[in-house]
Amino acid sequence: MNEYDSNRIYDLSKKLNYIKTDNVEDTDCYVLNTCHIREKATEKVYHDIGRVKKEFRNKKKPIVIVTGCVAQAEGEVLLEKEKYIDAVIGPQSYHLLEKIIKNIEKKFKKINITEFDVIDKFDNLNLIKNSSTNISSFLTIQEGCDKFCKFCVVPYTRGPEFSRSINELLNECIDLANNGAKEITLLGQNVNAFNYCGIKLSDLIYEISKIKNIQRIRYTTSHPIDFSKDLIDAHANIKKLMPLIHLPVQSGSNKILNKMNRKHTVEYYIDLIRKLKKVNPLTRFSSDFIIGYPGETDQDFEDSLHLLNEIEFINSFSFIYSSRAGTPAAKLEQVDENIAKKRLVIFQKRANEIKMRYRKKLFNKPAKVLFENKAKDNNKYFGRDEYFNSVIVKSDQNLIGQIKEVKILNGNQNTLFGEMKQKIKNKEFAA
Ligand code: SAH
Ligand code: SF4
Repeated sequence: MNEYDSNRIYDLSKKLNYIKTDNVEDTDCYVLNTCHIREKATEKVYHDIGRVKKEFRNKKKPIVIVTGCVAQAEGEVLLEKEKYIDAVIGPQSYHLLEKIIKNIEKKFKKINITEFDVIDKFDNLNLIKNSSTNISSFLTIQEGCDKFCKFCVVPYTRGPEFSRSINELLNECIDLANNGAKEITLLGQNVNAFNYCGIKLSDLIYEISKIKNIQRIRYTTSHPIDFSKDLIDAHANIKKLMPLIHLPVQSGSNKILNKMNRKHTVEYYIDLIRKLKKVNPLTRFSSDFIIGYPGETDQDFEDSLHLLNEIEFINSFSFIYSSRAGTPAAKLEQVDENIAKKRLVIFQKRANEIKMRYRKKLFNKPAKVLFENKAKDNNKYFGRDEYFNSVIVKSDQNLIGQIKEVKILNGNQNTLFGEMKQKIKNKEFAA
């Protein structure tokens, strides 16, 4: 979502004739868009600004703006601690960027805007075309969260759940398709809680699937509790909907899930996966796990390992629990840091083995790859298969924007390497 926001911040700044630069030393305005989900985010802000300060020691100071969830959470403190910052803008206020930059240019006082005015934000953003020209583009459809998992800052930094209107979403999607997008990833902190006047995520996906140029649709991140029957059915009925579902579970222990306020059990989660597999047996899953949540015993950790083995996630993102000020879990007794670290190593080793076992099964098999870009200095093309696996192939033909059938030759944890196949027999696909 930060990538979507950064693109939109750029769209807004273009109105003031700013253009993107890769060189920090050239910049007139430096916008640092931040994430606050785990610790060290705030330190990173000070560190990055320190770097800019050093670079501009003997030059005219650029405008420095901190946006995103660190800005939301720290607000005034950032401005007081780091005088080099001109403005802090929360994630629901960045539509005011134009005014803010104008004010800073006129040397008005420091600015702190951390209101939750999501309606106003999207009303303003709708007036400006989304200029993303990526083959695979993001579209924020929903923001905020009402779930209040006890470890998580999102309800406090992004605010309450809000769904954008179907009309503005379809218009933005058509713009993206006209710009060349072939794949749309619908974004939301709780994307499957999307509900605009009774129109649900599945309805939106049906509508988007009618846009001719859009060939693939994904969505992230879902909460297990919001996975309604209509969305499960959408996976059976909409061919453009990709068969990888990111479904964070956080823990394999009911005791820990309860302490986290996750609102579902392990059994419910497994049953949901069973239902999704039933409507499409080719569906695969990825997940997020928190390791070392307060109160996690060896047995609770074993339960998480057990779930990891049982579902065979093709990607598992695991993080040591990070205490966030202001969240209820911050007051609980923490698991010993060394124990948590040891558990994380064990967990990630196991997750990687499962991932590699899955990947090896892809070798010498065909895959459908949507190509997104080309390496600068050779004829290697980068794309993704239906399961979002990165694939690289060599080709003399320009593949960008096309879905091609590729034979996967080999690969590692991060990338699969393939070769172009002129014709792949259906029989081979079925295998
Ligand atoms: N809304 C999504 C996740 C959003 S946050 C959901 O409910 O699943 C993305 C991921 O960051 C979470 O899935 C969780 O695994 C991780 N995360 C969030 N807060 C965390 C914390 N305090 N410590 C460690 N990981 C955290
Ligand atoms: Fe955070 Fe997701 Fe829980 Fe909401 S549902 S509080 S975003 S982890």
